[in-house]
Amino acid sequence: MLLKNAFIYTDGSFNSSDLLIINEKQWIVGKNLSSIESKQVIDLTGKYIIPGLVDVHVHLREPGFDYKETILTGSKSAAKGGFTSICAMPNVIPAPDNINSIKMVQDIINKDACINVYQYGCITENRQGKKTTEFSMLKDYVTSFSDDGNPVSSDLVMKEAINKASFNDVLIAAHCEDFSYDDPRMSEYMNIKRDIELIKDMNITCRYHVCHVSSKKSIELIREAKKQGISITCETAPHYLIFTNEDVISENFKMNPPLGDKEDKQALLQAICDGTIDMIATDHAPHTHEDKLSGAMGVIGLETAFSSMYTYLVETGLINLERLVELMAINPATTYRIPGYSDFTVLDTDADYIVKADTFLSKGRNTPFEGMRMKGRIIKTICKGKIVWEFTQ
Ligand SMILES: [Zn+2]
Repeated sequence: MLLKNAFIYTDGSFNSSDLLIINEKQWIVGKNLSSIESKQVIDLTGKYIIPGLVDVHVHLREPGFDYKETILTGSKSAAKGGFTSICAMPNVIPAPDNINSIKMVQDIINKDACINVYQYGCITENRQGKKTTEFSMLKDYVTSFSDDGNPVSSDLVMKEAINKASFNDVLIAAHCEDFSYDDPRMSEYMNIKRDIELIKDMNITCRYHVCHVSSKKSIELIREAKKQGISITCETAPHYLIFTNEDVISENFKMNPPLGDKEDKQALLQAICDGTIDMIATDHAPHTHEDKLSGAMGVIGLETAFSSMYTYLVETGLINLERLVELMAINPATTYRIPGYSDFTVLDTDADYIVKADTFLSKGRNTPFEGMRMKGRIIKTICKGKIVWEFTQ
């Protein structure tokens, strides 16, 4: 496949070039490329080609909750959103806390996924926070470890998890929530603080990542820890960067942690600019309408993530497109050591459209972005050298 005349992201900046995709792992970027063997030549004048987007925080719901989403529908939804790699959270049934259940999910991924889907393994058995899993046995089958949805409350168990993560050189993605505090901001802050202190006390290097950071105090804490040289990374989600608790008009604005106030949002935007936040992840959490009405937490985000961030961060002049590529592709891929394939996303930054949930490929309709005008559209998603999604009028 030969893609001509696009602005291609290479080594941190955009250059007008051609992209020749040779196979699932090899490609060439250069001026005036031509290829006799390439049957497919696509002119992309005025369009941008970026590395495939990576979302490290996605709930695919299968197995166990396939009425909410499946690996098939979730991966299609991700492809439409420009993602070529996603990491599936382990709050499914059976829990991926042993080789058998992980292999079972892997079989579904191999059969149904249209992009690269990586699994999280559980930090603790059945995500109950009591007994850590066999990291050394599971690490070859999963991308990282998380008990997402549940914090690891016990200091002792978390210490053991940090030790195992350090020894096995694997990443822990922590859902931080300290149940002894009612205020969600304090709850998040205190749990992150506990983990940072454990890592400091143990005096070891551990790949420690904080999921969905939502508040000002947490950001200040992470910024300070980074200054002290602690290896810590973090993500936030588009909804925390766009909305505040004053915008909550329906159940489709309810997630855990909840939306913060103006100061929280401002602090998160500042952290996006100064590098404290390493990446943007959607926390795509599909639910049925009935489940949302009965209090299920979470919103979907795969099909709106890029456009929403382009509209609210790049169009507003807060960051440039290069920084957005770092936040949504480069940094998550580096931090999670996502394998390098011929994965690319093609953007039309001039296009605008109105979000309509009934056009989503996800089974979920629980979006807070319904009816909003967005700038920047994904027009092609190329995974392992093949077009897995493209926009048609
Ligand atoms: Zn979580």
